[in-house]
This record gives sequence, C-alpha cells and structure tokens, in this order.
Amino acid sequence: MSIEFKTPEIIEKQLQPVRVIAENVMRPESRTLDDHEHARPVKFVQMMWPQMQQMELANLEAALKRAHKAQNGDSVNNNGTQNNGQSTNGEAKANLANLTLVHMIEMLSWGDAGVYLCIPGSALGGAAIKAVGSAEQLERFLRRFTEGEPKWGAMAMTEPQAGSDTSNIQTTATFDATTNEWVLNGQKIFCTCGKLALEESDGLVVVWATVDKSAGRAGMKPFVVEAGTPGAIIAKVEEKLGIRASDTAAIILDNCRVPAENLLGDAEVQSGRGNKGFKGAMKTFDATRPIVAASAIGIARAAFEFTRDTLAKQGVAMVYDKPRWKLSAVQADLLEMEAQLKAAWLLTLKATAMLDDRQENQLESSMCKVKAGKVVTWISQKAVELLGPLGYSTQTLAEKWMRDAKINDIYEGTGQINTLIVARLILGYSRTELK
Ligand SMILES: Cc1cc2nc3c(=O)[nH]c(=O)nc-3n(C[C@H](O)[C@H](O)[C@H](O)COP(=O)(O)OP(=O)(O)OC[C@H]3O[C@@H](n4cnc5c(N)ncnc54)[C@H](O)[C@@H]3O)c2cc1C
Repeated sequence: MSIEFKTPEIIEKQLQPVRVIAENVMRPESRTLDDHEHARPVKFVQMMWPQMQQMELANLEAALKRAHKAQNGDSVNNNGTQNNGQSTNGEAKANLANLTLVHMIEMLSWGDAGVYLCIPGSALGGAAIKAVGSAEQLERFLRRFTEGEPKWGAMAMTEPQAGSDTSNIQTTATFDATTNEWVLNGQKIFCTCGKLALEESDGLVVVWATVDKSAGRAGMKPFVVEAGTPGAIIAKVEEKLGIRASDTAAIILDNCRVPAENLLGDAEVQSGRGNKGFKGAMKTFDATRPIVAASAIGIARAAFEFTRDTLAKQGVAMVYDKPRWKLSAVQADLLEMEAQLKAAWLLTLKATAMLDDRQENQLESSMCKVKAGKVVTWISQKAVELLGPLGYSTQTLAEKWMRDAKINDIYEGTGQINTLIVARLILGYSRTELK
C-alpha cells in the first residue's frame, strides 16, 4: 500500500475558512491581547462558536451511540462504524475526525496560540466525560455545548504539590449520605479556561479528587463541577510568560457540594485494570497530546515562515540543492528549522492517523508531544536569534512566539514525563521500574 502525505482534499476545504480567521481575526489582535492579558477575544469566540457547536453535536451523538451500545453489551467506534472499521452499510470508511482537528489547531495556533485556547467548547472536561461518562451524564453535561451562548469546559487536575506527580492529589471528595452529595475540598491551580467555564459561561470543570488518600491513584476520581456551584471559587487568574490571551485560573473548592451523579465512573476504589475512571481519563491523553503537538507546530511554523520570508527580502534564500558546506550558517539554520518542523509534524500526523484508525497510539502520542515541544522552543528561539533586533523587539511577533512556545513543553505531561513514557514503552519497563 502506498503512503500518502498529501493533505486530504476534504481537510483542505475545511481549513480554508480557518485560515481566513487565523489571518484576519487572530493575527490582527495578537499583540493587543498579549498586552492586555485578561481581555477576551470576543470576535474570535463569536466566529468560532457556530462551528464548535456543530462539532460538539457530532461528538456528542457519537459518544451517546457508544454509551448506549455499551449498555447493551455491543461496541461502536467514535465515527459510528463498528469495530471492524466498516460502516454499518458494509463500506470501508476512513475516519478523518482527529486528522481534521489537528490541521485546524495547527492553523489556529499559527494565527495565535493564546487566542486559540479561548475557543469555546467542552475541551479537556468534555474529553474526560466522553471517556467514562454514562449516557445520562453525556446528555446532562455535554448537551449545553451544542446550543445557546458560548460555553467552556475545563479540567482541573494540577495542585500546588501535584503537577507531574498526579498521584499526590490532595483535594478530597467525601460522600455525604444524608444529602446524597460529594463534598469537595482543596485547591487547584493552572486550570485552562477555568474562569471562562465557572464564572463567564454556563460551563463546567472536571475536578480530580481523592476519595481515599491511602489508595493512591486508585482513589482518584473525576467529578463534574458546574458553573455557579457554591464553594467552587476562582481564587485568581495567572499572569503568564506566554499564551497570555488564554485564561489560566486557580480554583478553591471549599465544601463544594455536587450531586452523587456528578461522579464520572464508579465510586469503588479499585487498583489496576479495575480503576476504569482514572485509566479511562488518562487514555484521553493519547488523543490530546497530538493536539498540543499540533498547537506547538502552528507556533513553530509561524516563527519559521516569518524568519524565512524576512531574511529572503534581505537576499538570504532557502537552498535545497547544494551540499551543506556551500551554505552560509544562516541558510543552514533555516534548513534545519524547516526539517525539524516537518519531522515534528509527521510524527504528529502519524499519532493522529493511528488514533483515527483505532490503533493503540500511546507511544506515538507521547513521542510527537516531546518532539513538538522541543522543536517549537528551539525554532522560536532561533527566529529571535536570526532576526536580530527585529526578533527581540515587540515590533514583530517573533518574541511573542518564543514566549508562547514553552507551554507546549509543559502541559499535558512535560517533555521529561513524556520522554519517560516513551522510554518505558520502548524498553518494556513499568511505572515503578522507571521513574
Ligand atoms: C499555562 C498552563 C496551563 C495549564 N493548564 C492545565 C489544565 O487545564 N489542567 C491541569 O490540570 N493542569 C494544567 N496545567 C498544569 C500542567 O499540566 C503542569 O504544570 C505540568 O503537569 C507540570 O507540573 P508542575 O508545573 O507542577 O511541575 P513539576 O511536576 O513540579 O515538575 C518540575 C520539573 O521537574 C520535572 N520532573 C518532574 N518529575 C520528573 C521525573 N519523574 N523525571 C524527570 N523529570 C521530572 C518536570 O518535567 C519539570 O521540568 C497548566 C500549566 C500551565 C503552565
């Protein structure tokens, strides 16, 4: 079978309006929104919301179908096909949902990575709900993202003492049998879209808490906290190095009561394979790490293209047909930037295509995240370096891209943590054997 590297026509078509938004809505506001950290990209949100609602609706319907089938003991994939990859009428059907998504995110992040993060939708919160939620929970929590005013979903896992080490989560969930509620107490930090979800829309945050500290990961459970729930308080919004248009909130949970039915998965504390809630939500990283990689690549492409085009105006051309020793140092740097960019993109496409094809992609998903995180920080620094004063001054966006880059090497597992995952999978070590 031949390998096809061309972007499918159907994706190209869907990318056209996204490119227009990236160029004409995001870029013109990039500097202003970076300067005014807590301002909102209102125009972008309004333009994206109709499209996001459609996407949310399609995802919800697919998730509901899966949940109903699972309840009946049958199984159906995200795209409505049965597990043999055939559509229900017997025709082979290529699933391009995630490939389309990463192309869109790459393009939006080329426009502005901070603004892209303000996109309305269920986001990471929705991913956790879809991973382990029942049909009733899908309907109750996710229908809102298909109608009405823009809304945001978020996920709050990180705490001051629990970043990479998620097993150290201190937020507690205690069951109150008299009211049939879970009572959450603790502190969450660095929650992307936390304020938008809890205070500025009728959204929700999936909060991770432990029902039994002595049980470690097995005791950790996800709870849905809806906007307006008493005791869920936005303590502050961060002021950050980069992606400054993005809302990053600290949340205090002070006797925050949620109905028993807001627990995702079951309440039983089970380790190993039985702990479906934790494992299921962790599996969502296999789908979301390529998304972070795509965002990194969007920033890297912006920095690379700007550097290439600016230097071209000064007579420094890209040269592909000469040996390296015949190139100037700057030309060699430009070639290396482009090569690294493409390597990261190809890894991301591979991880994503495997996801669409329902193949296990944990290794590829962590690999592309590591590579893209490194590539974007390196390319954006090179851009500032090669552009000289123009790169360092706020006259252009080069310095901003350099600041926006780093987060991609931090969230959804740092570069080091994803490297550990890759090493474990390649070498066959367990989490305890290699940490
Ligand atoms: C802007 C922003 C948005 C975020 N959004 C969210 C969100 O929406 N929801 C959420 O839950 N979290 C979010 N996070 C948190 C993010 O996931 C964490 O910052 C990340 O997991 C790292 O945790 P930490 O910052 O506590 O660093 P630490 O875990 O303290 O790590 C510090 C350093 O040590 C390294 N390190 C740690 N353990 C190891 C090891 N075993 N081997 C080698 N090196 C190691 C790390 O790689 C890192 O370089 C966000 C963070 C930021 C900055």
